[in-house]
Parts: sequence; C-alpha cells; structure tokens
Amino acid sequence: MERKKPFITASERVGKLPPYLFAELDRRRSAARKKGVDLIDFGIGDPDLPTPKPVVETARGAVAVPEYHRYPQSRGSDFFKEAAFRWLSREFEIPSLDSLEVGALIGAKEGLAHLPSVFCNPGDVVLTPNPGYPVYRASAILADATPVDVSLTRENGFLPDLGVLDESVLRSAKVVFLNYPNNPTGAVMGRQAMREIVEFVRRKDVLLVSDNSYSHIRFDGEKPTSFLEVPGAEDVCLELHSFSKTFNMTGWRVGFIVGGAKLVRTFMGVKENLDSGVFTAVQKAAETAIDLGPEHLDSLLATYRSRRDTLLEGLLKLGWDVCDTPGTFYLWAALPRGTSSMHFASRLISTAGIVVTPGNGFGSNGESYVRFALTVPEDRILKALGRLEQKEISSMWKKSSHRKRS
Ligand code: PMP
Repeated sequence: MERKKPFITASERVGKLPPYLFAELDRRRSAARKKGVDLIDFGIGDPDLPTPKPVVETARGAVAVPEYHRYPQSRGSDFFKEAAFRWLSREFEIPSLDSLEVGALIGAKEGLAHLPSVFCNPGDVVLTPNPGYPVYRASAILADATPVDVSLTRENGFLPDLGVLDESVLRSAKVVFLNYPNNPTGAVMGRQAMREIVEFVRRKDVLLVSDNSYSHIRFDGEKPTSFLEVPGAEDVCLELHSFSKTFNMTGWRVGFIVGGAKLVRTFMGVKENLDSGVFTAVQKAAETAIDLGPEHLDSLLATYRSRRDTLLEGLLKLGWDVCDTPGTFYLWAALPRGTSSMHFASRLISTAGIVVTPGNGFGSNGESYVRFALTVPEDRILKALGRLEQKEISSMWKKSSHRKRS
C-alpha cells in the first residue's frame, strides 16, 4: 500500500508556542458588546490619542512622491538614520554615539521577533522576563532556542536579578531581553542597576537586548535612560526604540534598532532576507515626529499623568492594591492572593463592562495581577471608577482583602 505523507501540520516549534489564553475573555467581550454594554476598555496598550498633525501632514505629502513608491532602502534611508541619531543625541547621554549604527524596523515588535534567530543556535538559552511582553518568549521558541525565565517580583521591585540564575543556564545563555520602563509592571530601572547589568552580561558573554519602547513614558521626573549610556555597552547591547508610544504611531509600524555597528549590521543583514524595509513615506513621517518640539512630549505626559493620578487614586480609594510604579502608561494591580486573574478579568467584563488584561497573559508571575492601560479618556476613567464602586466586584474585592498580598 502506498505510504502517505502525514497531513500538512504546523512545525514542532509552532506547537511549542504558548496557547492563546484570552479566548474566554474575547467571548465575554463580544457577548457584552452584542448586548449593547458600553464597554470601557483598559485592555490593549494602543494610544487613543491621534498622531501629531505635522507628522500626518508630512506623510500626506510623502505618499505622493513617486520615488517613495519603489522599494525602500532596507536598512533605512539616510535621512531616517540621521534623524534617529539626532533623537539619540538630544534625548540621552550616550558617550560613544559615533561608533553606533542604526537600522530601521517595522516597529520594535518586528525587531524583537527576528532577533533570536539572528544570534541563537538551537538549544541556546534566551533569558526572558516573567512577567514580560510575550514576544520575547515566542521569538526564542521560533528560533529553536530555549526561553528561561528571569523572575520579576514585587519584592524585587520588578527588577531582574541575573545573579540568581544557575551557572549552567548562564553558560548557555546567548540573549537577555530587558524592558524598562517595563510593560506590564510599570517599573523603571536606575542608572546604577543598568551599569551592573552591562557589567554582568559582558562577563557572561550574553547579548543584552534592551526594549526601550516606553523610554519617554515615565512619571518620576527623571530623564529617559538608555543602556547605551553605560560606557562600553555598545559591544554587548542592542537597543530597540519605537515611535508607537512616544508619538501615538502604533498603526504606522516604525521603529529602529541601535547598538555597536557590528551587532547592528549582523542583525540588519539577516533582516534583508525577510523584509524590504519601512515604506519611505513612513520614514519621512517618523523624521517629522523626531523633530517635533518638546511641547508634544510635554502634553502627552501631562495627559497620561492626569489619567494615571485619577485611576490610581480612585482604585486605591476603593481598596485596590495597585503598584505605584512610575513608568509606562499601565497600572499593574495586585489581586487578593490566589485570585485567578483570568477569572477576575472575565467577571469584570460581565459585571461592570470593564476590560483589563489578566496578568497571567504575561507569564506565570503575572497571575493574580491585572493590567490597566491608560489609553482611555479621563471621563471614561471616572465612569469606570463609578461602576467599580457600585458593582459586586468591589464587594468581592473587600471580602478577600484580608488575604491581601504583602
Ligand atoms: N515592546 C513592548 C514592551 C511593548 O509593549 C510593545 C507594544 N505593546 C512593543 C514592544 C511593540 O512596539 P511596536 O509598536 O513598535 O512594534
């Protein structure tokens, strides 16, 4: 009998990707919408504010330029790279700017997703924060590397302690992903901790990948920081920057990678096999974003700060246990110990019409937490607080509060 090939299925590595956790949540959300519930959605970190007008105007003109209708320069146009360097030199204090190289990305996510396949061999370890942005783990798996957790806990201020990892893990570690200001916890990292991490990865021959997508969204009055400010970091560090959050440009898909020239060229050389770069008109728009005056960022931060204060104070008044971390436009709230974050988030939809992201979507350490994205106007935040005050969710909260986390 003729032997048949197995039916076409996804690869084994695709089978290793974590399961999609939010099906039940999606179901409740659509059911609530169908019933006409006025949902207040703190779920996705997608800015509700529009892209600044001058950026849109630049794009409007640039899409009409025939030269830009052809393939872009895949590593980024010279004008874009020069603009990225203007940004880096204006916003940070990087000692070795001249020795760095920049490459355009189709958003930071694209860069993160491709990174392990450039630097890892099968079986190499990729250190990924738990909780953390899920793409770090997924990209390691898709590169046949082995993701190993770096635990971020409230007790350690959601900062990594790489020194507690087994020596055998560190020997196989090739890449560590870090992200400060941090999604989902809102933690920021101080300059001394950054210096120590650079020193550590240098000793252990690990590539530090710093996801600086939220560089400018912080409320502690400190200047934005970059790992590349640490002298010599460029030999062991690649950093990703995004226009999505800083300039309300999530839909445009543009960012850049920066680091030592050799590392960036290695990375971009692989990317040339995978995509053909960022639409030149979008690079033009990004250039305009970089050259906006400080008023844009001042007003962006003022908006998020005011939303943050309203939601944080409101939740604390209702007895919630919210982490008062100063970074990103997220609030990370601890549920009473033992509460399933998925169950809690589902109930919040059906009882109060409020959507939050369950913490376990970011890894096991996110269990018993939920994340609020401050991408909701202030009047809606007040409305949500009003609902939380009235609904049975608050009584559930109070009943369990004697088991509050430390
Ligand atoms: N990194 C982190 C930590 C994020 O939260 C996000 C988006 N939510 C990204 C990267 C993706 O950024 P971009 O839109 O530039 O791809």
